[in-house]
Amino acid sequence: MIKTEKELIIEFTDKNSEVLIEIAKFIHSNPELGNQEFLSGKALGSFLKKHNFTVTHNIAGHETGFTARKVSSRPGPKIAFLAEYDALPEIGHGCGHNLIGTASAGAAAAIGNIIESLGGEVVVFGTPAEEGGDNGSAKASFVNEGLFDNIDAALMFHPANKNSVTQKTQTVEPVDIEFFGKTAHAAGSPEKGINALHALIHFYNTLHSHQTGKFKNLNIHGVITDGGKAPNVIPDYAKARFYIRGATSNESREAVNTIKDILTGIDKAFNTTSKLTYFQNRVDHFVLTPEFDKLFSNIYEDYTGLTIEKGQIKPGGSTDAANVSHVTPVIHPYLSIGDSSLTGHTTEFADAACSEKGFETLLLAAKLLSLTALELYKDSELLEKIKNDWNKRIDSQK
Ligand SMILES: [Zn+2]
Ligand SMILES: [Zn+2]
Repeated sequence: MIKTEKELIIEFTDKNSEVLIEIAKFIHSNPELGNQEFLSGKALGSFLKKHNFTVTHNIAGHETGFTARKVSSRPGPKIAFLAEYDALPEIGHGCGHNLIGTASAGAAAAIGNIIESLGGEVVVFGTPAEEGGDNGSAKASFVNEGLFDNIDAALMFHPANKNSVTQKTQTVEPVDIEFFGKTAHAAGSPEKGINALHALIHFYNTLHSHQTGKFKNLNIHGVITDGGKAPNVIPDYAKARFYIRGATSNESREAVNTIKDILTGIDKAFNTTSKLTYFQNRVDHFVLTPEFDKLFSNIYEDYTGLTIEKGQIKPGGSTDAANVSHVTPVIHPYLSIGDSSLTGHTTEFADAACSEKGFETLLLAAKLLSLTALELYKDSELLEKIKNDWNKRIDSQK
């Protein structure tokens, strides 16, 4: 009897389940910070190479980024899977990105196995540094390089404490604020100095005093990273690093303009020179595509016999997958790897990302993502409907 494409996908994932779990374990036991994920990127790249993908490392200014492609000789859609594999300082894979990268690679390989008959192309984007840091949020760099321009849709999943559809996420304006002044003897001739730390502290307080007014819809958090070297020297330099998060890019970008005005005012008052710079890519808000999420929900419910949460939970975080959602329809559903008390960015979450339940979810995610993609290859009307839904949402933001 001829097997259906769906059966072939499930069979492929089952056959490769041990290999996929080994890769997820390997990435978990070698946690690498953003833009340093050499071993993790290689592990995923090698797996895809074995399955006849053309793999290129070092992408869009990210040495640990990669692309992996498999093309059919027949025309068809270009569907992408987004792979993340960076860890957090101290707690390793406390966000479970070892499962994200592996599930996306597994899903792509399952599609790759039948791409010749489906037509089109399957792509994996290995995108470093989702957690940010210097030159972080690589998906933004991939978007800026135009790597998603011909992609019809993109998929990934994120481990969580529940099962839900894609959620709205906040923007991030990741900025460094620096003040430049002039040193002087703090007791002998303070009047000859220009105190950069005073200016910075005034800025810090001004920013937070606006939290109940002008910036009340924003989530602003920062740290002072340089406040001078010695108490008897007037600091000529002070620096702080902030994340300014908002519901939309318009809102947070507008806030950055206001902050520039605040800095100008402070420079006048304190005689300092200030500088605002982005220390990593800015992160967009998520453009949801409900038709795409509906497809995933249906496949989830069909396959598991369970229901998935379809509502929106209060947004708390941000993800650079949102940047991709501004150039192509994206789903970023959440699948549970533990009970409801589990919270992200903790050692407990890192443990769950290397547990039996975690690996079970990894294989489920790989299957659900590839089954969802399969529908996009097979049903051009459905793909069109999803793209129209996305277009409407993008237009409404202009
Ligand atoms: Zn995270
Ligand atoms: Zn994450």
